[in-house]
Amino acid sequence: MKIFTIGGYNEVGKNMTAVKINDDVVIFDCGLHLPPIVELEEQERTMNEKRLRSIGALPEDTILDSLDLRRKVRAILIGHAHLDHVGAVPYIAQRYNADVYGTPFTMQVLKTLIKDEEVNFKNKIREVLPNSSFTIKGKKNYTAELINITHSTIQSTMMALHTPEGVVLYANDFKFDNAPQLGKKPNYEALKRIGKEGVKALVVESLYASEERKTPSEKIARGLLEDVLFATDNKNSGIIVTTFSSHIARLKSIVEFGKKLNRNVIFLGRSLHKYVSAAMQVKLCPFQNDILLVKYRKQVEAVLKKINKNKDKYLIVCTGHQGEPGSILDRIAKNETALDLSSRDQVIFSSKTIPSEINIANKGQLEKRLKKKGARIFNEVHVSGHAGREDLRDFINMIQPEHIIPAHGDLPKLSALAELAGEMGYKLGKTSHIMQNGQNIEL
Ligand SMILES: [Zn+2]
Repeated sequence: MKIFTIGGYNEVGKNMTAVKINDDVVIFDCGLHLPPIVELEEQERTMNEKRLRSIGALPEDTILDSLDLRRKVRAILIGHAHLDHVGAVPYIAQRYNADVYGTPFTMQVLKTLIKDEEVNFKNKIREVLPNSSFTIKGKKNYTAELINITHSTIQSTMMALHTPEGVVLYANDFKFDNAPQLGKKPNYEALKRIGKEGVKALVVESLYASEERKTPSEKIARGLLEDVLFATDNKNSGIIVTTFSSHIARLKSIVEFGKKLNRNVIFLGRSLHKYVSAAMQVKLCPFQNDILLVKYRKQVEAVLKKINKNKDKYLIVCTGHQGEPGSILDRIAKNETALDLSSRDQVIFSSKTIPSEINIANKGQLEKRLKKKGARIFNEVHVSGHAGREDLRDFINMIQPEHIIPAHGDLPKLSALAELAGEMGYKLGKTSHIMQNGQNIEL
């Protein structure tokens, strides 16, 4: 088999990997690189393939054209609903005569993206439940399997392609969380079974391969939130919480605590609307009757006006955790809404700033403005959704793959995982492989 490392091997983002076996090609993930889009967003709204390619936001899948592989692509498999995994599908899937597969939530988010961007989308979208398998038909037939895993959005999966030469296991993104606050635990049984069957190649995230730790469970993030919300003086304060819009489990904790504080929980912003309504549509939103979900600017404005009169009766959940210009929190900080922040009010970042230059600058500006109003800022009330070095070690031991291909990072991150593999007996260049975007390797 040949593995093509198309995107996400020189950066964190635009994940895309293709596997060629016999005369058939299967694609894993098809994501966007977000930093160039964040930079561009204020000036222009409409996106298309050409424009996105020109700013480096799409994986360079044109390498498949030059090798005459494009027409051999039989399926596009998407592991989870984050934009760096699914976000490029609306723009490039139509280059392939192939169906797109993913869990119901992931596919619902994809449908929303297609609708929002008004894309004329022709590929068939196929929903596959976590912990089930399906057949990919090509020159030969293959079984593919979506294995339930824990991460920072619901219905995340590892993806296994069963081939006569062994399994290709695609493990972007995951952590091992035995106390997820929504959804099931990782399917360790399936992973062990696949390990026994024989994994030819493991494509695995390297984001935190250098962090010597086990990533804590989501229950710890819930505990951190509880601590801030119930052990600080906020009785008469306005409370604003911002977090990743796709993090439905985190949102669930926030809503439950808001109710316990006897506050009305109000969700504000487009991206929250996008993910929360997708979760509602596939019946995976346990708090759907406990919130008011507001999308459009006019309604947001009216609601904030009302909240401003009784700030202590509400808990606001809004967009803007990365300081994104035009997000609700950014607009509140810039005095562009009717909500006045004062020295008693709390702004809780249940998130971590994703360390790209543009995010750091945006977040810095936002904090400066919030502080000027005297708001109390609570940063990093959060735990990550990505495996640490010791999770990765356990994972590799569990799977015992023949080859390891570190993914989802730039060279230092990939190298950290290759180094871990080295500690575990893998040989760089022989059984562990540091790849770059646009390369391929025959195994
Ligand atoms: Zn992810």
